[in-house]
Amino acid sequence: MGQASLGQGCPMSARTTADGRLHELVPGVHAWVQPDGSWWVNNAGLVRGRDAALVVDTCATARRTELFLAAAADAAGGTPIRWALNTHQHGDHTYGNSLLPASTTIIGHTLMRAGLSEDPVIDGCPPFWDPVPDWGPVVRRLPDLAVEGAVVVHLGELDVHLLHPGGPAHTPGDLVAWLPDRRVLFTGDLLFSGLTPLVFMGSVTGAMRALDWIAAFDPAVVVPGHGPVVEATGLGGVLAEHRRYYGFVAATAERGLAAGLSPLEAARTADLGEFAGWADSERLVLNLHRAYADHHGTDLDVIAAFTDATAWLGGPMHTHV
Ligand SMILES: [Zn+2]
Repeated sequence: MGQASLGQGCPMSARTTADGRLHELVPGVHAWVQPDGSWWVNNAGLVRGRDAALVVDTCATARRTELFLAAAADAAGGTPIRWALNTHQHGDHTYGNSLLPASTTIIGHTLMRAGLSEDPVIDGCPPFWDPVPDWGPVVRRLPDLAVEGAVVVHLGELDVHLLHPGGPAHTPGDLVAWLPDRRVLFTGDLLFSGLTPLVFMGSVTGAMRALDWIAAFDPAVVVPGHGPVVEATGLGGVLAEHRRYYGFVAATAERGLAAGLSPLEAARTADLGEFAGWADSERLVLNLHRAYADHHGTDLDVIAAFTDATAWLGGPMHTHV
């Protein structure tokens, strides 16, 4: 990557709630980073080739998506945004889909498309967050192109490889965007940099395996789904933090199951230790619900999981979406 790729003002460690900004990582490849990356405040991206541009994800609300798409159009400089990738089904990355140009083809994994088609939250967010997010004038827009395996999008001189980790990780239908010529990797929510990872709709063990998969790309720059951009020198540390956190979730679940505790009780007896300083720490409860469901071979009850997370927290989860 170039010397000036992460220039002055790039929020490598900022913890503010400012609006997003577009950061050019290498020529033609931009990260839209929204501080502070907590609930509903995601990262996105723009890749501009000679013939076409591709955006990576949209945002949760109309206002945030409009800011992103205006900056993306500006950086695309007249190159048509012909493609969009949805890295996974969650609304912080997809509710803004309907604000993309009608001529933009949206690509997502088959299971991602199925998940968004059934997502009830866009129709009325339950009161688990404070304030309750207002999505604004967006409507559900599903991917036009559903894929299961590897796909390459050709933008001219630039190729974008869309790849699935091989099983459930953050969600069942995760896709990353890999630019081999630029060595930039957009991971979606397979990585949260400096915030509590969330795997309750995926798999603790699958998310753990995905870390080795990410490392094997040997990227120069990684754009996580939330939190600051990660350069190659910092990636090992970020992956190690995730490994320790997933290990902590698995150990807490194992101990809770052995003691006959519910996920909420197990969370209440756990010491967050080094993870206490991460935003959205109540995700421990959600992640334990996933570990318990996988142990029992049952479906995860999303409403019960969120109800327990707010009980652990003593009130609604915080957002500034
Ligand atoms: Zn997200």
